[in-house]
Amino acid sequence: MPDLDKIVSLAKRRGFIFPSFEIYGGSAGFFDYGPHGLTLKNNVKQIWWKQFVSGREDVYGIDSVIVTKKEVFEASGHARGFADMLTECEKCQRRFRVDHLADTKKCPECGGKLGEARQFYMMLETHIGAAEDEASLAYLRPETAQGIFTNFKNIVDSFHPSLPFGIAQIGKAFRNEIAPRDFLFRLREIEQMEVEYFIKPGDWKESFEMWRKEMQKFIASLGIDTNKIFELEIEEADRAHYSKRTIDFEFDFPFGKKELYGLAYRTDYDLSAHEKASGADLRYTDPESGDKFIPHVIEPSLGIDRTILAILCSAYVEDELGKEKRVFLKLKPQIAPVKVAVFPLVSNKENIVSKARELYKNLKEKISGVAWDDNGNIGKRYRRQDEIGTPWCVTIDYQTLEDKTVTVRDRDTGEQIRKKEKELEKYFSDKLS
Ligand code: ATP
Repeated sequence: MPDLDKIVSLAKRRGFIFPSFEIYGGSAGFFDYGPHGLTLKNNVKQIWWKQFVSGREDVYGIDSVIVTKKEVFEASGHARGFADMLTECEKCQRRFRVDHLADTKKCPECGGKLGEARQFYMMLETHIGAAEDEASLAYLRPETAQGIFTNFKNIVDSFHPSLPFGIAQIGKAFRNEIAPRDFLFRLREIEQMEVEYFIKPGDWKESFEMWRKEMQKFIASLGIDTNKIFELEIEEADRAHYSKRTIDFEFDFPFGKKELYGLAYRTDYDLSAHEKASGADLRYTDPESGDKFIPHVIEPSLGIDRTILAILCSAYVEDELGKEKRVFLKLKPQIAPVKVAVFPLVSNKENIVSKARELYKNLKEKISGVAWDDNGNIGKRYRRQDEIGTPWCVTIDYQTLEDKTVTVRDRDTGEQIRKKEKELEKYFSDKLS
């Protein structure tokens, strides 16, 4: 099991993830994605979008707003229910979530006495317009799902889909977590990929199983270690207020087995609540029987940040190559931020550098994720590319000038083979498809 500190430090050193506002001392639960982290995240989102949305015929993608009228969360139950029980240590003033404590009387940090448990509301508030009063109160959404429910009627009216069909989105969500911790695991600003899949009530079991399989497939396609994935059936007492069945997909993180994703049967809870509160008719009309009813919902909900953390934990490897210790990220080529790094063997020989630049530019036009690296000696470049998980490094050397071949070095084995320059594009495209 890799040490979380090593992953945090590699992520920062190599430009994946930085603590936000670090020059001002940072703020718990906020992280920024640097160039490699952003590319990794975009690759994950693309794979998800293809599998859950664009590759299917029955799912519609949307992008709804983050700042949300309070009426939406009053109807959904979040304004009253999206809260955790909080307790504060009377000695060191640290705050804890009661459901995360083994002993609710004694502070796990300093041993001091813990105070009375009280409700802590987790939605971040803002105001719409100039007046900062109760009437202008709005929330930063704590999940992307409600933006989907409030657009249900729009999708039905514009596209006339028949059941079952889904509405999906990827977007930011905000939770004022009591105790943000464990790097990307518990953040206050997160990104989610969610589908609300609308069904006839009698079909829920079948749809639940279908999405469970889709989630398993997605996890495997990212190279997350499937031996560390556990599906946990959530007991009724621990389920969210809207759910009749929930499975948590847990991942064995360095700090323990914790929820990576959730799959929930949300019944008709949300649409019914919005119909009641808004007065809009949110029923679906069955085209055959003419019956009108509120569809039920299966929701696969996937956090992107926890996905990135599970990917980094799965990919982090320490080994020995050529009798030297090294660290590398064994990322699947499809998600690696850099797929191919192109090097000139030496950076002070004009003919080698210009040949390498030419080859780099050609490859970069054809394949996304091609990088140039001429910094330091070859050994240093390999170490750097290994640490960001680049699957292949191409070196242009003296022999290239004579016979138009280059070396291609494999990240996992360190093996080098010579390839014809003109075969490179096909060679990499085949490996990436
Ligand atoms: P937890 O029990 O860990 O607080 P949750 O059950 O509240 O999580 P959901 O409401 O089911 O989480 O959110 C859906 C998904 O969003 C989660 O499976 C996770 O991937 C992600 N997620 C939720 N809260 C956070 C957070 N604070 N930081 C990072 N990701 C989160």
